[in-house]
Amino acid sequence: MELYFDKRHGKIVEIIAEEADKLQMETYIIGGYVRDIFLRRASKDIDVVCVGSGIRLAQSVAGQLGTQAALSVFKNFGTAQVKYKGTEIEFVGARKESYNRNSRKPIVENGTLEDDLKRRDFTINTLAIHINKENFGELIDPFNGLQDMNDLLIRTPLDPDITFCDDPLRMFRAIRFASLLGFSIYPETFEAIRRNKNRIEIISKERIADELNKIILSPCPSVGFELLDKTGLLEITLPELAALKGVETKEGVGHKDNFSHTMKVLDNLAQTSDKLWLRWAALFHDIGKPRSKRFDPKTGWTFHTHEYIGMKMLKEIFRRMKFPLGDKLKYVEKLILLHMRPIALSDDEITDSAIRRLLFEAGSDIDDLMLLCEADITSKNPGKVRQFLANFKLVRSKLKEIEEKDRIRNFQPPVDGLQIMNMFNLPPGKIVGELKSAVKDAILDGIVPNEYKAVYDFLVEKAGEKGLEVVSRDPQNTATV
Ligand code: ATP
Ligand code: MG
Repeated sequence: MELYFDKRHGKIVEIIAEEADKLQMETYIIGGYVRDIFLRRASKDIDVVCVGSGIRLAQSVAGQLGTQAALSVFKNFGTAQVKYKGTEIEFVGARKESYNRNSRKPIVENGTLEDDLKRRDFTINTLAIHINKENFGELIDPFNGLQDMNDLLIRTPLDPDITFCDDPLRMFRAIRFASLLGFSIYPETFEAIRRNKNRIEIISKERIADELNKIILSPCPSVGFELLDKTGLLEITLPELAALKGVETKEGVGHKDNFSHTMKVLDNLAQTSDKLWLRWAALFHDIGKPRSKRFDPKTGWTFHTHEYIGMKMLKEIFRRMKFPLGDKLKYVEKLILLHMRPIALSDDEITDSAIRRLLFEAGSDIDDLMLLCEADITSKNPGKVRQFLANFKLVRSKLKEIEEKDRIRNFQPPVDGLQIMNMFNLPPGKIVGELKSAVKDAILDGIVPNEYKAVYDFLVEKAGEKGLEVVSRDPQNTATV
């Protein structure tokens, strides 16, 4: 076997090997790092297993690497980490683990390398490279991980029911690796995930969310979500997505399967963007459909207001999944609420006013919204696809034109509520709000340009209709009036 460590890591491995020899500890590079050497993927963490104290070895290595190395010791876990110039090196003594049924926390004892490999999740993660001088580069592969790597297979080293029952997070890890690497899950392993799916209840939502984020960021994320569905994990974790499945037929008319449509939209989007929350927006964009579905004998199936219903469903999902509730939630809500708007635009005539309103509501997320809408075109009819894309192209060029002209994206009318109150000597209240909206609408509808003087005059006229007179000219802007 030809062993390839990148140059920087090669130097680090050399030092680990020297220290291991000094301490007379049998030592290996293991796990994801070795897997990724064979898959020719770059990895930044190195996992080291030694037969003996991982902490002791880490201390020596940190000492040898010098002042740029930062050592952290986790006594309770018997592990240590050395951070050195952007590389994280994890040290652990070879261990044997046994589990009790109600927890992911194992009982840990010292063990042999073989014990240590057995406790790992998948054969592709059980490869070890010996780094002591006399055996440097020797590959240890008791579970045929290399063969599974060649066959593109995810398979557990032990009885899969034991592996998944011990630590159910591994079910998500299996799907994550399948999705990320384009591997298949070995049939027995797959069946065991189906059998053990309910065990996922003992895993924290944060850890599941972490795996879901990795799945959704994979090059073809539908692979992962289809597997989550087929194993039954989707129904347990994200039932709102599982509810998109199926086709109902009435009077001989069926609607499209919204789950397969969603999968296509997500894959389309994955081709154009790596943004995590934009991908989540693609996955969730139609979750309002099952609740808004109606059959009308004249028009067939409709999903009116599904974008609004979907937007309203999000908060509960984010809360349950321990997703971030601040800006990220708002961003996904906004994209879901607006995802039908550009399509509606391209149906009618695309007026400046409609474009201004879209720009105003989408703000700086307008480009992401357009990516989502383009990904949402999944029609099998090439004529229709061509027409949609041409319309979107027109919408995009109009967006650009209006944005350059009116700067609506981060829109602030040139006269604000406080100024209105001063001008007409008004207390805060309904009338101020009405005047503010009148100004905003007038600008967005193109009745007045987005400039101070024009807006001032418009405001005086509008206020006049309500019987109000200017009491004080706006002190902040008198110079320009
Ligand atoms: P990545 O770092 O890309 O997320 P990885 O496989 O390196 O993937 P880590 O979490 O870094 O994953 O773990 C390193 C190694 O530890 C794995 O390759 C695997 O051998 C083992 N491992 C990690 N998590 C588990 C688990 N839940 N059950 C069993 N073994 C695990
Ligand atoms: Mg890793």
